[in-house]
Amino acid sequence: MNAPTHNAWLESVADEAEDQAAEKAKAVKIEREVHKLEKRLCRQVGQAISEFNMIEEGDRIMVCMSGGKDSYGMLDILLKMKQRAPVDFELIAVNLDQKQPGFPAEILPTYLKNMGIPFHIETQDTYSIVKDKIPEGKTMCSLCSRLRRGILYKVAGQLKCNKLALGHHRDDMLQTFFLNMFFGGKLKGMPPKLLSDNGEFMVIRPLAHVAEADLSRWAEHRQFPIIPCTLCGSQQNLQRVQIGNMIREWQKKFPGRIENMFSALQNVVPSHLMDAKLHDFKNLKITGLPSDEGDKAFDEESFEAPNVMASLQGVQVVKL
Ligand code: SF4
Repeated sequence: MNAPTHNAWLESVADEAEDQAAEKAKAVKIEREVHKLEKRLCRQVGQAISEFNMIEEGDRIMVCMSGGKDSYGMLDILLKMKQRAPVDFELIAVNLDQKQPGFPAEILPTYLKNMGIPFHIETQDTYSIVKDKIPEGKTMCSLCSRLRRGILYKVAGQLKCNKLALGHHRDDMLQTFFLNMFFGGKLKGMPPKLLSDNGEFMVIRPLAHVAEADLSRWAEHRQFPIIPCTLCGSQQNLQRVQIGNMIREWQKKFPGRIENMFSALQNVVPSHLMDAKLHDFKNLKITGLPSDEGDKAFDEESFEAPNVMASLQGVQVVKL
């Protein structure tokens, strides 16, 4: 075999140096994007906490962990917030092992132990109860989640927690809003904070402002040991799937639509809807005074074009 010529050798050294420089530039870019993503997640969780007064001095918060990307992300960001928070509060991670076939029971305890986080695993075979009560082929989710809720409240009481944190995000909230409108005939979403139905606990959703896509990227970056959510064998809620697809299609065709719809949830005008329980239409009287609340009855509504760049802030594509 011929030895490479001097020029060929120089060329290969130059190529290698170029490749290394490109690799380094790529690594720097990824690091920058991850840093931006982390900042955005912390800012949005902080925004929800302060806007809805979710966390107060002395709170003992049970962080509900399903083993999905959202609950891992929630715990991760809450731990970061705790380090910088001006108030002192405690976090206890809780997972309910529902005895679904193939549930990898060691994954969460191992992860939480390694992270040094206080945690509790509650084992209750709700899977058998649901299987027993619900006929084959029917969806099991409603009974399953009712049982789960009851158990989680009981565990919160035993652990002396006053709040339960759930990992629902902005996209879950929008989906729920449309589900209620399309299938339930109600203008009703998923609140960022609500009292538990037994009145004993506050339920909070610290990811209320966070986009699902950002949670997926964070999970990929942090390499969370995700537990699949299909172990129970129940069909996914087809109506929710349908709504999710609809919202994604809209966003693709009209970038910024998700952000606008989400703003709308925080900007309700009861006097311009039709719920007489929220607005006293019957007793509305002529005042003779101009009012900004009044209708410009004959004018077409006009809307500013969405600021797509600003609205895309939450859906920035980060290749990790
Ligand atoms: S998907 Fe399975 S685990 Fe989740 S609520 Fe439905 S039945 Fe329960």
